[in-house]
Amino acid sequence: MSEKLTLPVTLPLDDAPPAVAAPRAVLEHEPELLTWLAERGQPALRAKQIRRQIIANRAESFAAMTDLPLALREELARDWAVFATEIAASPVAGDGTRKLLLRLHDGKLIECVLLAEADRRTACISTQVGCGMGCVFCASGLEGVARNLTSTEILEQLLRLRNFLPAGERLTHCVVMGMGEPLANLPALLEALAVAGKKDGLDLGQRHITISTVGLPAKIRQLAEAGKQYHLAVSLHAPDDGLRNQIVPTNDRVGLAAILEAADDFYKTTGRQVTYEYVLLGGLNDGPLHARKLVELLRGRQAHLNLIPFNSVDGLDYQRPDPDDVTRFAETLRRAGISTKVRKTKGGDIAAACGQLRRRAEAAGPVA
Ligand code: SAH
Repeated sequence: MSEKLTLPVTLPLDDAPPAVAAPRAVLEHEPELLTWLAERGQPALRAKQIRRQIIANRAESFAAMTDLPLALREELARDWAVFATEIAASPVAGDGTRKLLLRLHDGKLIECVLLAEADRRTACISTQVGCGMGCVFCASGLEGVARNLTSTEILEQLLRLRNFLPAGERLTHCVVMGMGEPLANLPALLEALAVAGKKDGLDLGQRHITISTVGLPAKIRQLAEAGKQYHLAVSLHAPDDGLRNQIVPTNDRVGLAAILEAADDFYKTTGRQVTYEYVLLGGLNDGPLHARKLVELLRGRQAHLNLIPFNSVDGLDYQRPDPDDVTRFAETLRRAGISTKVRKTKGGDIAAACGQLRRRAEAAGPVA
């Protein structure tokens, strides 16, 4: 089950099977919807009304779109679907973290999470079904990548999560840290985020959106050149190539030097400081020597460091780090002047860590 994923060397890292649009979802088929409306003598404006209803007004059915004629709403309900996804499960943890397991039109499952803290409402979203990067400690990549998500499937995670918020509350932040490698599905992600960023969409500020990557240098540059203010987080997990090759199998085709150079260029192009993420795996990458090496790597860079104590994954025998080791590790970095945070674990009792709920659901058979 936890067999190490070996990547075919000849394939590019971003070569996931393409997304397939849901056959009846209105947001996936704007041109067809326009034709359908025209055939019924309806103005094109109706398509905009439907979109606004779903994106701005939280409509979850055509019946709720009361600015449309009743007969049209009934006909829409016969031929079209409001969403491309279905909610398969939506557990809430003791700390208020809500996880959604979404079923896609082809039966595949993805996950997204809503985290509430003070006045922040953060959505954590997925970009692929599974993941092709194969980081050894991560649940999302254990079965590889099945396909990319469409931009609508990405956007819908934000809509679905937002719809759970009380009226008047909105999503304030988004982290692209769910299943998949976001930069391996960059066009669809950018399209979804563009809609999310619109004032009459979800009004999510670019600076409140964080895209986390395993480190694909060409794509990091492409993102920088997109001219947006998205925040970039780069998953390091090791301070040298030897150890990183063991933890992050894609590293032997990329290497730390190329990733750091691309991240430095991202900062130069966008003026946005990069965050480095480092999952602390007990006894593997959490020692004093690793901390000192990481200082050498990050010193002089405009960077933040997020230390993430490993969240246990069913079937994997990596260890959570000892809390004292985490404190010492963070102190070494801070003393060297590197801005360092230790991430709190949230939603532990609902398997909120990447890809875990889906695995449990799949292991348990079909989700009702
Ligand atoms: N593919 C992207 C997004 C992955 S999820 C990337 O590699 O950055 C976001 C972060 O959660 C990554 O840093 C990832 O390594 C980390 N992560 C994955 N599984 C984890 C686990 N079981 N415990 C702690 N962090 C985990």
